[in-house]
Amino acid sequence: DRVVSGEATEHEQTFEQSLRPQSLSTYIGQEKVKNNLAIFIEAAKQRHESLDHVLLYGPPGLGKTTLAAVIANEMGVNMRTTSGPAIERPGDLAAILTALEPGDVLFIDEIHRLPRSIEEILYPAMEDFCLDIVIGKGPGARSVRLDLPPFTLVGATTRAGAISAPLRDRFGVLCRLEYYNEKQLTDIVIRTSEILNTEIEEIGAIEIARRSRGTPRIANRLLRRVRDFAQVRGDGIITLDLADYSLELLQVDRLGLDHIDHKLLKGIIEKFRGGPVGLETIAASIGEEPDTIEDVYEPYLMQIGFLQRTPRGRMVTNLVYQHFQLEMPMK
Ligand code: ATP
Repeated sequence: DRVVSGEATEHEQTFEQSLRPQSLSTYIGQEKVKNNLAIFIEAAKQRHESLDHVLLYGPPGLGKTTLAAVIANEMGVNMRTTSGPAIERPGDLAAILTALEPGDVLFIDEIHRLPRSIEEILYPAMEDFCLDIVIGKGPGARSVRLDLPPFTLVGATTRAGAISAPLRDRFGVLCRLEYYNEKQLTDIVIRTSEILNTEIEEIGAIEIARRSRGTPRIANRLLRRVRDFAQVRGDGIITLDLADYSLELLQVDRLGLDHIDHKLLKGIIEKFRGGPVGLETIAASIGEEPDTIEDVYEPYLMQIGFLQRTPRGRMVTNLVYQHFQLEMPMK
């Protein structure tokens, strides 16, 4: 339950649903991805074909689900949503695929978690829009081929490297979502405030944006918490002072780092003289799983240049010493 986690909490989902931009023109940022998609969507529409399959990848909370829905909207089709872990048996996938309407978008979140046996059913479905199913058992078993309507698979993953090569190769369009910059996040915070009917000063929005780790989901979450402070402790308006005060109380520092980041970074400084130190050793020393550190904590710390991966392990940079106002050790 980190306030700066990129993952959605369960009760956030309805709130997020109401904030999702519906079109490419209202989807903020990710210009390169949007420009490419706009061309591919236009071309597919002109040819009256379904859009090529699209793989969206990048850290959690950057807008993959939102973008999938935007694609469906721009194509003028419906989107069916499922996720890798939700599809356990071949029949689950067959049921979803046979219920699609021509042109529909099938969105599979966490697609890297699809079991391999299910992935294999997807190959002919993606390539030839057909489904090979086995009827019966033992010597009498036979395979029949079912035609499917043309559809667009939009897969989302936080770990592009975890997707098998045969699956990755079947996506015609690969889009890497990037962390958002301060200006884009400020625009997102202002847009969300309008939807929430909350008055916000631009400098207040900038302060929230700065502490949102490049992630719209975190920006929206921080905004909601700050709005509570504004309502109870202020006059409902989000000013710079109020944003500052609330985020201080939420223990989100000026760069969006929280106590876990502090523990990780200070641990490397205090116990390992700033590194290099192996991932496993860091994990053991702060009581976290190596995978969690690699997938959840590290990407943003690397993005802001606080942490470096070297062949000999992780190292903090001098930016970390500056941030914590610590003196760099003599090496
Ligand atoms: P996950 O894969 O972890 O579910 P995600 O990458 O699919 O995350 P979304 O659920 O699409 O993220 O987005 C999270 C929230 O951020 C949503 O409420 C969405 O409205 C908002 N958001 C994401 N991207 C944008 C954007 N480009 N412009 C405006 N709001 C955005």
